[in-house]
Amino acid sequence: MAIKSLITPVGIDTASKAHNCQANAKHRIEKGHVRLKVRNGRSWDHYCLACARNIIGRDIQKLIELQESLSSVPAPLGHIKAA
Ligand SMILES: [Zn+2]
Repeated sequence: MAIKSLITPVGIDTASKAHNCQANAKHRIEKGHVRLKVRNGRSWDHYCLACARNIIGRDIQKLIELQESLSSVPAPLGHIKAA
């Protein structure tokens, strides 16, 4: 059984034509600029680098907080055999 990931499919690509960032319509992504692409249903959302850095930073913070709250759970965890 595959281990579930919390991270949705994402990638980095370059814009084939100019368009607005999907987090903020004031952010223009020009043709050829590097952008973050995030799977959304059957299509992709695209974000400028500034928004990409915010999104990634925020998610890393969330994951760290999750990891920290799990590490404060007293061992042994129910279904994990103690070493
Ligand atoms: Zn943006």
